[in-house]
Amino acid sequence: MFDPVAVLQDLVRLDTTNPPGNEAAAVSMLQGIIETAGVEMTVLSRDPERPNLIARIPGRGEAPALLMQGHVDVVTTADQAWAHDPFGGEIIDGFLWGRGTLDMKGAVVMMVHAFVRLALSDSPPAGDVVLAVLSDEENSGYFGAKYLVENHPEHFADVKYCIGEFGGFPMPIGGTRFYPIQVAERLSVRFELAITAEGGHGSLPRRGAAMARLGKTLTALERKRMPVHISAATRLMVEGMVEHTTGITQRALRLLLNERTADAAFRLLPGQLGVLEPVFRNTVSPTIVRGGKKHNVVPAEIRLTLDGRMVPSSNPEEMAAELRRIVGPDVDVGYAVDGKLGPREPDMGLFPLLADVVKRRDPDGVPIPFLMPAATDGRWFAELGIQPYGFTPLLLPDGFAFQELAHAADERIPVAALEPGADMMFDMLNEYRGQ
Ligand SMILES: [Zn+2]
Repeated sequence: MFDPVAVLQDLVRLDTTNPPGNEAAAVSMLQGIIETAGVEMTVLSRDPERPNLIARIPGRGEAPALLMQGHVDVVTTADQAWAHDPFGGEIIDGFLWGRGTLDMKGAVVMMVHAFVRLALSDSPPAGDVVLAVLSDEENSGYFGAKYLVENHPEHFADVKYCIGEFGGFPMPIGGTRFYPIQVAERLSVRFELAITAEGGHGSLPRRGAAMARLGKTLTALERKRMPVHISAATRLMVEGMVEHTTGITQRALRLLLNERTADAAFRLLPGQLGVLEPVFRNTVSPTIVRGGKKHNVVPAEIRLTLDGRMVPSSNPEEMAAELRRIVGPDVDVGYAVDGKLGPREPDMGLFPLLADVVKRRDPDGVPIPFLMPAATDGRWFAELGIQPYGFTPLLLPDGFAFQELAHAADERIPVAALEPGADMMFDMLNEYRGQ
């Protein structure tokens, strides 16, 4: 078997910043590794520089196929101050540094390791195991998962569950090491607000111009929150946490289970529960302002773009109405949905196996279902009726905050976590029975 650490170092050194991505070298490097196990493979691409690899290990035909999917593109490092070269693949103080080590080249290497190990073993899995190494996750999957699902769905026709990011590593709350495992994700809804008022000559100041109303709109968005919605995945998550906490943490978690008292819980334990808050409501973040072309002309219209994220129990119309209540009737609200609404209730069939795999390595750890605040490629596979799970298991040292390092400066992974992570993925493949 290959050394996952050395392979991850090589993979990090291939700059796959998306855009433009240029994932071809990374995909072909992994293809070379998988080839050594004599596995059937297909490369499919909308653009040859941005290929996707699909490999399949035939099973015994006793269970539906299981898909592992991971992306090799990474987000930009522009304007970030890194202590070490983000594409150097250096090992320093027990960490492998670099862009993508957490999101998600490290996980892809673990997947490939488990996959090759399974292919080389004497016992075929219960069902076919499919591995998809993908381009373009960080920019909507147009060249990656979305392209495959829309143009080559036959490769996934027999798949029931897929495994991808995000989850399987510790998130400590109230002294307990929880392991969130993604079973649902929020949908991305892009809002365009048009703020209009009379414009004119810059030498004649006017009150209530579009620029001033933009200020009011942004202030309202800063001050007000949309109402709490507890979706099925969130309820499962909190119920899983209540059982394993005590005292004030447990009391606060119980308050979270009720839409009327959830806000009080966040006020009670703002530091600890703050990390969970985004999955309890629809949220918007203002990201782009367009307006004003000339320094001496007061603009008549300003456009404001909001990155909106919607919980699975809501719908875009309801979310738009919630937003209108915050920004007021004078602002025109338009929106576009990226992807489709997933099922309101996740299929939890695979969860016990994933939880078991983690608990064997960390008996004090508590795996919980998790609603992912952001979108992943899982949403595209969900369109084929596949239940996505976020499970890239890592035993991380206390104080190591995965969420704060992914997409950020100094992204790095503990070297010691890679091999056990690959072993846990192998256990999952080996013990999968269709569940
Ligand atoms: Zn990712």
